[in-house]
Amino acid sequence: MKTVGINGYGTIGKRVADAVRAQPDMEIAGVVKTSPDYVAEGAIEAGYDLYTVEGSADAFAGAGLEISGTVDELTTESDVIVDATPGGIGEQNAPQYAEQETKAIFQGAESDALVEQSFTARANYEEAVGADTVRVVSCNTTALGRLVAPLEEAYGIDQLRVTLVRRGGDPAQSGRGPIDDILPNPTTIPSHHGPDLETVFPELDVTTLGMKVPATHMHVHGFNVTLEEAPDEDEVLDLLDDQSRIFLVPTEAGIDGAGALKELAHDRGRPRGDIWENCLWENSLTVEGRDLYCFQAVHQESNVIPENVDAIRAMFDEAGKDESIAKTNEALGMGL
Ligand code: NAD
Repeated sequence: MKTVGINGYGTIGKRVADAVRAQPDMEIAGVVKTSPDYVAEGAIEAGYDLYTVEGSADAFAGAGLEISGTVDELTTESDVIVDATPGGIGEQNAPQYAEQETKAIFQGAESDALVEQSFTARANYEEAVGADTVRVVSCNTTALGRLVAPLEEAYGIDQLRVTLVRRGGDPAQSGRGPIDDILPNPTTIPSHHGPDLETVFPELDVTTLGMKVPATHMHVHGFNVTLEEAPDEDEVLDLLDDQSRIFLVPTEAGIDGAGALKELAHDRGRPRGDIWENCLWENSLTVEGRDLYCFQAVHQESNVIPENVDAIRAMFDEAGKDESIAKTNEALGMGL
């Protein structure tokens, strides 16, 4: 049984906490909040012990919320910390975890240079085995990794080009935008996603173009890969259908976009309407010679959650790749 501390209980942290608690071989030591807001109250209602940063305990006492300790105490009580703080804060926290000899997992906004291994379970689980520090790559990179890995194994990849149409912000991020615009973001090419994917696939020739639009539900990727061997379209569909974290959106389902996908997730009783799987439209998959095209949607708030769970097992060498992925999937209820 591994004991996990969550530092940063926001969009990602709260979901990782629930996913870890659902695993048969893991438990939560506690979660860190900086302010005694509705999310902190929700953490207590969910049964998590609440910890805070140095100097904030009085604010929690004032709000009548019980605090179990500070980050260093949580770090001592944990076998591993999942740091889900905003980008750049993980880097500030890293020396403390190292000093206390506690393994640590960081998220996509931190630099690859901070950790021993950037991670996506399907692509490079084995490389994180035994590591003390791992970075679960961003939502977009995770989704690309899940699609690239089987294609690379089956056909080899000559060149990959992806246009990423990204949501402006998460639903609770009232300050994010654009509100009425379509932004090349950045206007320069490549966007950071290509180089980020290369932290998982060092040999990959990839170019990415990023855009931002006024949406909060999901990202959508226009994916075009030139393979080394010309594939058969039906064989590719079978290959992708076999990937446990890819949901092939059936044509007959009548799902025309991110809104319908989120509706499906809510209808199926998914917690918070989460979609952990890549959602790849079956009828978008098109093969022309060695070129393959498709569209996939990515639920940015939740698709990295199973990867955080697998990263824990890899770091402690508690299970092989397939065993960990299967265990995580089953505990979460993966599969739409
Ligand atoms: P968030 O803002 O929703 O949550 C971060 C939480 O950390 C907040 O509750 C904040 O109050 C808290 N926090 C701030 N400073 C802290 C500190 N010093 N100590 C402890 N907690 C602190 O952010 P998020 O979206 O969950 O992102 C966290 C990480 O996950 C980032 O690296 C981000 O790039 C990555 N990520 C985010 C998404 C997404 O779409 N939201 C997807 C994949 C990866």
